[in-house]
Amino acid sequence: MKYTNHFSTRSTPQSEPIPGTNQIEDSAGGYAWKTTEWTQLDRFLILGSEGGTYYVSEHKLTVDNARSVLACIQADGVRVVKRVVDVSEAALAPKNDPALFVLAMCASADDDTTRKAALDALPRVARIPTHLFHFLEYSKAFRGWGRGFRNAVATWYNNKEPEQLAYYVTKYRQRDGWTHRDALRLSHPLVEKGCLHQRLYSWVTHGEFEEVHPESTGSYRAVNDLIRAFEAAQSTDSKADLISLICVHDLTREMIPTKWLSDPDVWGALLQHMPIIAMVRNLGNMSKVGLLTTGNWDAMNLVVSHLSDEERLHKSRIHPLQILAAINTYSSGKGFRGSGTWSPIPQIVDALDAAFYTTFRNVEPTNKRLVLALDVSGSMGWGNIAGVGGITPRVGSAAMALITANVELHHTFVGFSSTLIPLNISPRQRLDDVCKYLSAIPMGGTDCALPMLHATKENYYVDTFVVYTDNETWAGAIHPSQALQEYRRKVNPNARLVVVGMVANEFSIADPADSGMLDVVGFSTATPQVISEFAKGNM
Ligand code: CA
Repeated sequence: MKYTNHFSTRSTPQSEPIPGTNQIEDSAGGYAWKTTEWTQLDRFLILGSEGGTYYVSEHKLTVDNARSVLACIQADGVRVVKRVVDVSEAALAPKNDPALFVLAMCASADDDTTRKAALDALPRVARIPTHLFHFLEYSKAFRGWGRGFRNAVATWYNNKEPEQLAYYVTKYRQRDGWTHRDALRLSHPLVEKGCLHQRLYSWVTHGEFEEVHPESTGSYRAVNDLIRAFEAAQSTDSKADLISLICVHDLTREMIPTKWLSDPDVWGALLQHMPIIAMVRNLGNMSKVGLLTTGNWDAMNLVVSHLSDEERLHKSRIHPLQILAAINTYSSGKGFRGSGTWSPIPQIVDALDAAFYTTFRNVEPTNKRLVLALDVSGSMGWGNIAGVGGITPRVGSAAMALITANVELHHTFVGFSSTLIPLNISPRQRLDDVCKYLSAIPMGGTDCALPMLHATKENYYVDTFVVYTDNETWAGAIHPSQALQEYRRKVNPNARLVVVGMVANEFSIADPADSGMLDVVGFSTATPQVISEFAKGNM
């Protein structure tokens, strides 16, 4: 009898754990390692649990992640707060909601130090009223309004510059069932009578703004005029007056009644000072109303010039995934949810494409030989990354890999499901074409060992394998980590493996005991840089 047909530490079917390891069963019936709770925290902060995965529901994925967050808070709550602040401030994640949720959990921790750290960090994580309202709503699940909590919210308001506050209370008026009136009534910020804060609070809670002295200048004049312009915009029936108010006072879309939002001239006025995130989100709307149409060069030039403005992009904290979603929707000529169609303007799609690359942190080429391996199995084609409409993990991972391919000359793309699939993509292609190409590849089972097995068979020299996957491997006769060791024995003893996790589950194909394998989180803006550092051997 050949006992080693049944039991080997060098070649174990993915349906069984590697002997001597603590692998656990993944959701697909294969075996993988469980990530540490800190890796899990990062996955949750970046990818969230919105929509669940191919295998588990949104409810279960959220509960699993929240349990893991609790374990981190119990181990070191201040470290959790610090990580939340870092991820949120550096705009590593497509959405700020997971950061606010984790912050709300920290703000109700048993431990005083953690609670205080979380409340102190509130203005850094909740940077605009929408974030604050999300935080207040999340907190309802964990705690009430004690003194520390009231003070934190009051301080949030009191520490804003008056002009900023006036902009906030007119632009972001409600979210999640919360209004400024609710938040101010519960937090009672103390201010001196007659100061701008007091006038704004009283306007929010009672609807009356006390007119400033006619000769006032500076912030008194600016705040007064914005509030009056807002009130005038709410009541006017004249389009010419409204457009003049928008242009003179930089009013935003949220500050004017929705009845005007089907008018191209109104949108044209709004576009002049439109923040870039709003602009990217409204490309379809501006096309549908007839503002962004072929031949309307002024509007097109403005959009293209804003998208090409590196400083503007970085200051806006727009995340590349938001741009990818816009490329996908805008170039398709129809809304993801809404009705109506438009003709996409190629210059705008090109500008979005370039902006996608600009919004990642600068990535230095390593000049190493890389295999960029994309999991194109069935599970990767399901759901949306971080709940961002239209971007499946499969399409998102291709876009991530293109960032690396864009700077690395020596890269090879491969796809895998239960077989190896040659991929014909390059960073010279436009992302909307790549998305379409990826979406059309037939689905299959999952064997994450294939990129390493293939390179071994072909005797193909690789420094680093980068595998973009949900880590739900099950179909292979050998584990990915064992396939890497086999490759090291036969071709390159120093070969490394980076696993880019595209879903916030708790599994990894990377052996935590092997320093030549690394887990990173998909669609963090820092990930391409981390891949490059690891490939250079710096980690
Ligand atoms: Ca799969």
